[in-house]
Amino acid sequence: MMKQTDIAIAGAGPSAMLLAAEVAETGLSAIIIAPEPQETWPNQYACWRDELPDRPGMDWDELITPSFPSAQIWLDDRSPLVLERQYGRLEGSKLQRALWQRFESAGGRARSGRVNQVNYDARGAELRLVDGEDLRATVFVDATGHGARFIQRRQGKTSGYQVAYGVLADLKGEPAPSDRMTLMDYRGITPGDDISNPSFLYAFQRESGLWFLEETVLVGPNKTGFETLRKRLERRLGSMGVSVNRVFEEERCLIPMNPPLPRMDQPGLGYGGAASMVHPASGYMVAYAAGRAPRVASCLAHGLGRSGSDPRQVVREAWDVIWPRSDRQSHALYRLGSNILAEFSVEETREFFRAFFEQPKSRWRGYHSRSLDVRGVMASMWGTFGQLRPEIRKAMFAAIARNPREAWEAMRGGLPE
Ligand SMILES: Cc1cc2nc3c(=O)[nH]c(=O)nc-3n(C[C@H](O)[C@H](O)[C@H](O)COP(=O)(O)OP(=O)(O)OC[C@H]3O[C@@H](n4cnc5c(N)ncnc54)[C@H](O)[C@@H]3O)c2cc1C
Repeated sequence: MMKQTDIAIAGAGPSAMLLAAEVAETGLSAIIIAPEPQETWPNQYACWRDELPDRPGMDWDELITPSFPSAQIWLDDRSPLVLERQYGRLEGSKLQRALWQRFESAGGRARSGRVNQVNYDARGAELRLVDGEDLRATVFVDATGHGARFIQRRQGKTSGYQVAYGVLADLKGEPAPSDRMTLMDYRGITPGDDISNPSFLYAFQRESGLWFLEETVLVGPNKTGFETLRKRLERRLGSMGVSVNRVFEEERCLIPMNPPLPRMDQPGLGYGGAASMVHPASGYMVAYAAGRAPRVASCLAHGLGRSGSDPRQVVREAWDVIWPRSDRQSHALYRLGSNILAEFSVEETREFFRAFFEQPKSRWRGYHSRSLDVRGVMASMWGTFGQLRPEIRKAMFAAIARNPREAWEAMRGGLPE
């Protein structure tokens, strides 16, 4: 009979590796299957420092470079909002090494290959790889990213995308103070500018003269092409008196922001982009996946440790750790919020963010970090709504009317499956 591994994870991106390291450290046998498991991740990931969990072997302060004590948001030319919260960029290759080190020293194995088909039975999952080999696992985890093929989602469609064009470039002049992170610069590129699909500048200095800059549509209908954003970035820098000496890297980013939730009753598990874990209003996910992974791993170890355990039941319990009821309810609210934001003009977006960030820090921070329960999310949304001018509230109601499914799901709490 074919040898059976406890957990097989398809993918070797950040979600797969964050979960794999935790799973292996519980003592479960684990295998990573990906076309090139140790290939360097193509993207650079940034996050709020306080969202990263304390884990053995993870010296986050060593892994975050550069790190900034605060972030700023420009909504007009007067002065920026300063968010006193540490933010930084995870050094991808170092993070990858640290996770592989944990995974392999706990006995985890890797196999190059692409999963092509998954069949389930009472003992778990049988995976067929593209090269024809079959593998067995008690629990199969799809961590193949946003386009995951082996995950069933609820009805509905992804209606919002984050689109960004970024460069790592040597600059003459500074687009922002170099000791702070510019999270969003929504100032007009030319006075009175009102472009559809408003974009903002995201910028930080990596080292002297070397900047990472990104022109980003936070959430929109995916109509803003990379070329449009490239030109906007060029115009923006020109209006700031900044010129580019040399571009070292380019990044084209497209993140599906609000895919429907995965079904909780399916026989396989998902993690990361595959499990719709990207924040529907910000596009961040890595720190959140890092925070949730220890609990998912311990749930799997506990479930598989029970005598005569049923793999389907264990998977169901693990889905409940990834998406507990309260988070499913909040997700419906976040999705609605993201759809509303996608329809705002530049001016409406600016006013919305002014009101949002003028709430108490615990509220906006909790909203961003998904640490609020559903009542907290509601309070944050109402708090923001209460500060808006009547015209903007009207625009919000009109956007809600154009999103009846999301509004209905948000109202009834995103349940049942
Ligand atoms: C350009 C960009 C920048 C981003 N920046 C940030 C950021 O700063 N901070 C943040 O928190 N989030 C960010 N995100 C959002 C999100 O965190 C990323 O999309 C993240 O890469 C998702 O991780 P993942 O591991 O779920 O999927 P992926 O990183 O997409 O990894 C998928 C893995 O699955 C493998 N695979 C695919 N198909 C198969 C198969 N059939 N069998 C086996 N393996 C397979 C792939 O080879 C890959 O290893 C960004 C996204 C993009 C696109």
